[in-house]
Amino acid sequence: MDFHEVSPKGGLAVRLNTGRTLRIVTPKGQQAADFFAYSASNLREWLSPMHTWVTTRSVKPRAGDTLLSCFRRPMLDFTADSAGGVHDMMIAACDQARYEQFGVEGPHASCAENLRVAMSRLGHVVDVVPQPVNFFTNTHVEPDGKLVSPPNPVPPGAFVELKARMDLVCVVSSCPFDLQVPGWTINAAAGPTELHLEIR
Ligand SMILES: [Zn+2]
Repeated sequence: MDFHEVSPKGGLAVRLNTGRTLRIVTPKGQQAADFFAYSASNLREWLSPMHTWVTTRSVKPRAGDTLLSCFRRPMLDFTADSAGGVHDMMIAACDQARYEQFGVEGPHASCAENLRVAMSRLGHVVDVVPQPVNFFTNTHVEPDGKLVSPPNPVPPGAFVELKARMDLVCVVSSCPFDLQVPGWTINAAAGPTELHLEIR
């Protein structure tokens, strides 16, 4: 088993070859994990929630679903979920512009920047930030269409497992969102925490 720690507010890129399983753990709970995946042989083929929705008929990823690429090819099987389905795949990755809209002055860590930095460490340039799957994120749509993000209920030690259907480069970001925005809770009130990656 390969073990990696994603530091609080940080990101990490890992190879995940066909047939191997990636477990993403939030050891302290309540920590959003923005997840991106690319075909290892073609970085223009990335995991695409929008292409996945119409096949799984759900705007949330559920255990048993197969997550598709932008070319509608199977990338990952979502094989296990101990977080009670508290996931999102509609909210764009946070980025510097979003934090400035919230009133932050100066640089703020973001999932978009974490993706770029993590991929650059493997020698890859990211010029498009794909829509992530946001594991352990409580954002959802209410029956009237309203988008809400109530406090994060994911318990310590919760995990998801994803089995690769093709050779992949996967990126996990510990979402750095740490602002006190009424009605828009993302992570634990005390701030972002680490994530653990286990590859089997
Ligand atoms: Zn984020």
